[in-house]
Amino acid sequence: MGKLTIDEVGNQYGRLKVVAYVGLNVARKAKWLCECECGNTSTVLGADLRQGYTKSCGCFQRESLRAYHNRRAKRPKMGRIAFRMLDVEDFE
Ligand SMILES: [Zn+2]
Repeated sequence: MGKLTIDEVGNQYGRLKVVAYVGLNVARKAKWLCECECGNTSTVLGADLRQGYTKSCGCFQRESLRAYHNRRAKRPKMGRIAFRMLDVEDFE
């Protein structure tokens, strides 16, 4: 404890409305219980909410899966495609 946690309760992020503070994860980041417009609930990191990574329980990601992965992609397969698109010749 000691570090101040930003109160997110009542905030709206995309389809999610923050309803309760859950606790800290292993990286000591605040987790929040959110209610999605579709009726599901989801536990999301505050940082992911504020940075716009998480905007729904998952229903929105399914609709915009490609955009979501392009932004966060760390997978080799996606990286290769990105580099090919950028035409980086000395990437091997
Ligand atoms: Zn949803």
